[in-house]
Amino acid sequence: MNALPTFADLTTIGVGGEISRFIEPTTRVGFIEAIEDADHDGMPLCVLGGGSNMLAGDEAFAGVVIRDARRDIVVPDEAAPAEGSDTTVHLTASAGSNWDDFVEFAISLGLEGVEGLSGIPGTVGASVVQNIGAYGQEVATSVDSVEVWDREDKVVRFMDRSHMEFGYRTSALKRSMLTKRGARFFPTPRFVVLSVTFALRHRAMGEISYAQLARALDSNIGDLMDTELIRDAVLRVRAAKGMLEDPARYDNAWMSGTRRDESVAQARKAVQEMTGIEAKVTDRHSCGSFFVNPQMHVDDARSLPDDAPRFEVTLPDGQLGMKTSAAWLIDHAGFHRGYSVGRSSRAALSSVHTLALTNLGGATAQEVWGLANAIQRGVLDTFGITLVPEPVVLGMKRCQE
Ligand SMILES: Cc1cc2nc3c(=O)[nH]c(=O)nc-3n(C[C@H](O)[C@H](O)[C@H](O)COP(=O)(O)OP(=O)(O)OC[C@H]3O[C@@H](n4cnc5c(N)ncnc54)[C@H](O)[C@@H]3O)c2cc1C
Repeated sequence: MNALPTFADLTTIGVGGEISRFIEPTTRVGFIEAIEDADHDGMPLCVLGGGSNMLAGDEAFAGVVIRDARRDIVVPDEAAPAEGSDTTVHLTASAGSNWDDFVEFAISLGLEGVEGLSGIPGTVGASVVQNIGAYGQEVATSVDSVEVWDREDKVVRFMDRSHMEFGYRTSALKRSMLTKRGARFFPTPRFVVLSVTFALRHRAMGEISYAQLARALDSNIGDLMDTELIRDAVLRVRAAKGMLEDPARYDNAWMSGTRRDESVAQARKAVQEMTGIEAKVTDRHSCGSFFVNPQMHVDDARSLPDDAPRFEVTLPDGQLGMKTSAAWLIDHAGFHRGYSVGRSSRAALSSVHTLALTNLGGATAQEVWGLANAIQRGVLDTFGITLVPEPVVLGMKRCQE
């Protein structure tokens, strides 16, 4: 093993260059000190979780990469008596905990609130930065408070849900990073998550609120189902779309131990069972969905083709708006599943999911970025809409945004 990992070792899409310093603090104090040292020395800082929402460039990163090695999840209410009809149970997880390990644990305790988010790669820390969401659930609805290190004021803060300003794939934390070019807090926000406290409900039933999930469970929207069954269905639906990470990444010595061994073994078994159906392992070397679904004012949505999907949303300015599907736009701009720029490119759209850009093996970050740019240009030319990348893009010239 080399002395230091590369971004290709640490990210799900498996591209990216060398790293000059890599630190894995095992304590809360050690984590804060490592961040403080990097900021004090004026070094670029990347706090990395599972590397599942990051596209890092091929050039070496002349900064510090810190990965929180803590994985503890505690139940602070364990000894508290149940209060009347209030079924809320709090769980606190350190930022470095694997997200799906956390979901599995919550379900095993008979808690409801995050089962729809089963199988999303990455960590608890990053989950609240981009407000992960899937199958009708968003992490925002289950967050009680977030403990952060404020890199500007150099203090620990507790941000409750209202301070987090959650929105569609965003939060106050993400906004503290995505400022203008030359931002001081990039690629890691001003507020670094130390731990998250969740408020879940003590009931082992969850509500089905997504049509695809309802179909998979042979039920209807609004039905209540066992959370374990919901989890199984979500994992099956995700597997069929190549939207589970490749468990073989935990064979990589740099990823070993970042997820519970039992969970990796289960994921491996699921992949074996899937062999023979469409989802190929290479379809999982991605950052998940590469572009967010565009949101626009109602007037702007009028110029969309009649058959483009439309969902009513509340826009960040509080007005009623429309969301359309990035996957639909990409497909209808002529970029179909499996598309790549030229025959020799090792980066291609997933063969089972139009929104996932995948590394077919040995791709460079530049190849992935070239594909992203081609798609962005094609959608802009066809529909006049600029697709915005969902992953954090580091060390690349940003495409139009
Ligand atoms: C196959 C696949 C499927 C996916 N499906 C979904 C999905 O259904 N829904 C969805 O919302 N997302 C999905 N994603 C995206 C991704 O899993 C999530 O965004 C996830 O939360 C990223 O977590 P991470 O730990 O890997 O973050 P990383 O990629 O390691 O980091 C992403 C950003 O978060 C910052 N960050 C990391 N840790 C911290 C911290 N402690 N404090 C502050 N900032 C931090 C990093 O600096 C970086 O800016 C998918 C990705 C893949 C590969």
